[in-house]
Amino acid sequence: MTTAVVVGSGPNGLAAAITLAREGVDVTVLEAAIRPGGGARTSELTVPGLAHDDCSAFHPTGIVSPFLASLDLAGHGLEWLWPEIDLAHPLDDGRAGVLSRDMARTAETLGGDARSWGRLFGTYVDRIDDLVEDIFQPILHLPKHPITLARFGTNALLPATWTARRWREDPARALFMGVAAHAFGRLDTPLSGSVGLMLTAVGHAAGWPVAKGGSGTITAALLGILEGYGGKVRTSVRVESLDQLRDLTGVPPDIVMLDTAPDAVVRIVGDRLPRRVRKALTSYRYGPAVHKVDFAIEGDVPWINEHCRRAGTLHLGGTAEQIRASEAATARGRMPADPFVLVGQQYLADPSRSVGSVNPLWAYAHVPHGWGSDATEAVTRQIERFAPGFRGQVVATHSRTAVQMGSYNANYVGGDISAGANTARQIALRPRLAVNPYVLGVPGVYLCSSATPPGAGVHGMGGFNAARTALARAR
Ligand SMILES: Cc1cc2nc3c(=O)[nH]c(=O)nc-3n(C[C@H](O)[C@H](O)[C@H](O)COP(=O)(O)OP(=O)(O)OC[C@H]3O[C@@H](n4cnc5c(N)ncnc54)[C@H](O)[C@@H]3O)c2cc1C
Repeated sequence: MTTAVVVGSGPNGLAAAITLAREGVDVTVLEAAIRPGGGARTSELTVPGLAHDDCSAFHPTGIVSPFLASLDLAGHGLEWLWPEIDLAHPLDDGRAGVLSRDMARTAETLGGDARSWGRLFGTYVDRIDDLVEDIFQPILHLPKHPITLARFGTNALLPATWTARRWREDPARALFMGVAAHAFGRLDTPLSGSVGLMLTAVGHAAGWPVAKGGSGTITAALLGILEGYGGKVRTSVRVESLDQLRDLTGVPPDIVMLDTAPDAVVRIVGDRLPRRVRKALTSYRYGPAVHKVDFAIEGDVPWINEHCRRAGTLHLGGTAEQIRASEAATARGRMPADPFVLVGQQYLADPSRSVGSVNPLWAYAHVPHGWGSDATEAVTRQIERFAPGFRGQVVATHSRTAVQMGSYNANYVGGDISAGANTARQIALRPRLAVNPYVLGVPGVYLCSSATPPGAGVHGMGGFNAARTALARAR
């Protein structure tokens, strides 16, 4: 029987494990943390009973993931829930741009830009499954839907700032730039609009849902499915070398899947890596980071804008130009006074996360790579900017600096939650220039984390694609 060890139990590690196990491979997952799940965990971080998502909160890439769609997640307890409004982006003048599955609702908030917004994203929404099938693959592949991909690609190549100039008014420009900022970093470079285009198109087509009970239920469902195929998970095991795997599992595994950052690959695989691969992985770049804050609040946030009171996600950063400037600052290693902040009101869609009138509020600020200082006050100030009086509602707070994020999960090098900077080069060729980016040049050893295509997000596609390569080569 073919044996496999998966190092890391994030969504990509579990996706790789399931893909191998359902083909009859004997799979063991080894996880450094005391609980499996990587970026999809839920914890009581503040008040007892309040469910906070440690990392991932909203799942646009999960709801359209072909891999996740192939699993009986509902049969293993996962229920997706949608907020009334998927995303709102408030401005200082009281207006807000809104992203909704109902394009007409978005249009109402975009004034004179509504028609051009609808024209751009309407073409992608109509073909979202075809588009996802191609963009969730490595860039060097034979496209299944070349015309749809080419239509997306011509716009995706542009800097986010260029795409934002299609629109004349602040709500549309800021709404797009806020979504584009999910790429972390400069928004005036080629390909910097690609993540924004994809997440906006998916938002209109399928929404940005949350998992009932918290993102940890995604992990629980994946674990249940893996167990059904006979896969095993061992926690509190940090893998430092390939030799350690033989000692841990008794026999050298035929397949090793690394759900790790590239710097860990260099440590674990060591001298066995071909020189060109080692060189590429050691020059791989990590990007700006997050400072995470979880609040317990009494009641709801007193947002000035009505749409914000019903939105799952909020992007706080002001105008398109303000977001461009704050993202440029963090990319240069400077902490801006008003960082880009994301806020999650998952409890609006999923009241089961609250305790009485106390609700969990999820937030993080974009900060420079390796930023060790506390940015809780900057996060609070940004919320107050659009919701005066918020401070008075805070019952308890839990914070993790960028440095602490790196300790929480080794894949977040320096607090970079994307496992690598989304520079033009690393969006296109992740983690290196290779026909098959999951291959490490060592027989049987593959990289499957979000440092591979299609990058960050709880979709499992990196793990699925890498495991398919491993299966094809093992036959
Ligand atoms: C604050 C925050 C908010 C986010 N919000 C969203 C969101 O709303 N929606 C979304 O889709 N995504 C979001 N993400 C990103 C998402 O969580 C990640 O992109 C996703 O989890 C990546 O999956 P992965 O399997 O590649 O790696 P991870 O989930 O990071 O898992 C890697 C696992 O490997 C383990 N590991 C690493 N090295 C070793 C080793 N040497 N030995 C053993 N185990 C090891 C780690 O402990 C970890 O458990 C967010 C992330 C953060 C931090």
